[in-house]
Amino acid sequence: GCGICVKKCPFNALSIVNLPDELEKMLIHRYGPNAFKLYGLPAPRQGAILGVIGKNGTGKTTALRILAGELKPNLGIFDREPSWDEIIKRFRGTEIQAYLQRLAEGKIRAAHKIQYVDLVPRRVKGTVGKLLERADQRGVSKEIAKFLGLDRLWDRDVRRLSGGELQKFLVAAVLSRDADIYLFDEPSSYLDVRERIKVARAIRRFAPKNAYVVVVEHDIAMLDYLSDYVVVMYGEPGVYGIASKPYGVRVGVNNFLKGYLPAENVRIRSEPIRFHVREAPATVTAGREKYLEWGELLVKRDGFVLRAEPGELQKGEVVGVLGPNGIGKTTFVRVLAGELEPQEGYVYKPREELKVSYKPQYVSPAMFEGKTVEQVLREANPAALAPGSWLYTELVRRLGLHRLLDRRADSLSGGEMQKLAVAAALAREADIYLLDEPSAYLDVEERLTVARAIRRIVETRGVAALVVEHDVAVQDYISDRVMVFTGTPGKEGHAHRPMGLREGMNMFLKELGITFRRDPETGRPRVNKEDSYLDRLQKRLGEYYYIP
Ligand code: ADP
Ligand code: ADP
Ligand code: MG
Repeated sequence: GCGICVKKCPFNALSIVNLPDELEKMLIHRYGPNAFKLYGLPAPRQGAILGVIGKNGTGKTTALRILAGELKPNLGIFDREPSWDEIIKRFRGTEIQAYLQRLAEGKIRAAHKIQYVDLVPRRVKGTVGKLLERADQRGVSKEIAKFLGLDRLWDRDVRRLSGGELQKFLVAAVLSRDADIYLFDEPSSYLDVRERIKVARAIRRFAPKNAYVVVVEHDIAMLDYLSDYVVVMYGEPGVYGIASKPYGVRVGVNNFLKGYLPAENVRIRSEPIRFHVREAPATVTAGREKYLEWGELLVKRDGFVLRAEPGELQKGEVVGVLGPNGIGKTTFVRVLAGELEPQEGYVYKPREELKVSYKPQYVSPAMFEGKTVEQVLREANPAALAPGSWLYTELVRRLGLHRLLDRRADSLSGGEMQKLAVAAALAREADIYLLDEPSAYLDVEERLTVARAIRRIVETRGVAALVVEHDVAVQDYISDRVMVFTGTPGKEGHAHRPMGLREGMNMFLKELGITFRRDPETGRPRVNKEDSYLDRLQKRLGEYYYIP
């Protein structure tokens, strides 16, 4: 078998032409005779928010397009167009039936935030305000814009928006529509933690009370915070995807992390992912060796000033970096990487030959000019290509890079290029790993693969890593200590010294006014609902991350 099932293999040892009748009856769409197959659909519920979680290439976007009425499903039939009656008949007795009925009757109006927000400025022209007014069918666009902090950008041309601003603009536009279903495909891309929470709250607050809402999201803390129930999409990327039965939010996310879906009796990953409380000393003690050290730094870049408190990276630790966009995180990483000179202060390496491996925030084709994926990985470390090696099995294969080895690296998609850059940076033999936003464009599974690889490399090689990351669950998973950046974005940033995870998270979350607790079963961080008992208690105690 392929190893994903627990008992008898319903996929008949992965010969997907032979899927059992039971599953074949759930086939809703196939793009072509030998193309990707989608089984079932995540079932939306009126007045509730459905969170969809799962690997890329398992049909999440396809499912959203079907639910939105943009794509009429073909049931895998190509010689004629199946009627809506046939489609509905196939899903009789399932939760999706009533929804498909309404869709067939033309009674569903959809508002859909697409995944790739970068495409929008090429298609529309105008200012934020003009475009929001045009989208507004409910008379709420001004209020939503204010809530998301877009009012300051009202007269800004959309072509001049940053990725995060575009994301918020589109969320506001979609919420301003008068629709029956609201679909959000990856709403947290490009946003920092504060903005992610804001977008989640905006969706909750402004979507009409009796609407269907569906959100595809890879940040599990966000998905957990936002959803009323979840569906897991699983399968073989690019080959087939299956929508699970609906699960309660906590149970669904936990099942996903454990890699096992009990209602389906299917294993979706060979090992579970466990979060555990890690407390490193806040100061250099406990026999830790200082690795890289910096004095008080001052870095100026036209109009922006970064001040950093003195600090150090210790041998064998991962330090996470947290802070809003435009606060100087990348600037700081580039100073450590030796790409920028501080105006004041110094970076001290105890050994001059200390090697740094750096993954910049923006990965561009120019980084890989003329090379194939295989060449890039080989240059980073030949072991990354040796089947049987840890790097090959746990990093290259899990990120799906083994299928791209012959491709030219500069022709890859944004997500593929990101995975290659992260894998190459981690494969390199170095003393210090600097990773600026490694999760961007990656799905949950890939984020957790990268997180595991970072921990493993730092622990087994006894090196150190600094990781800029907006996904709190990933931060929690990898970081021994964290560095918090505060200040005024675009004007001045203040980099605090690295602190223990709990202390640093506490400082960071206090600024944001949100509290987290730990899930007792998996140890993963969960956002407390605003004004809930725990939220109020933790704020009173000053323990924003969790009560130890
Ligand atoms: P996800 O959103 O989970 O990443 P998608 O629904 O975008 O997955 O894609 C699932 C699979 O279907 C992918 O292998 C993708 O290449 C394929 N696919 C998507 N759209 C089309 C299309 N219009 N024609 C053919 N194949 C497609
Ligand atoms: P972060 O990584 O926290 O989002 P950055 O370090 O990228 O923040 O940017 C901090 C500030 O420095 C921003 O205001 C940005 O506009 C400015 N900045 C970034 N890169 C440059 C540059 N090449 N030249 C001048 N200013 C820059
Ligand atoms: Mg940055």
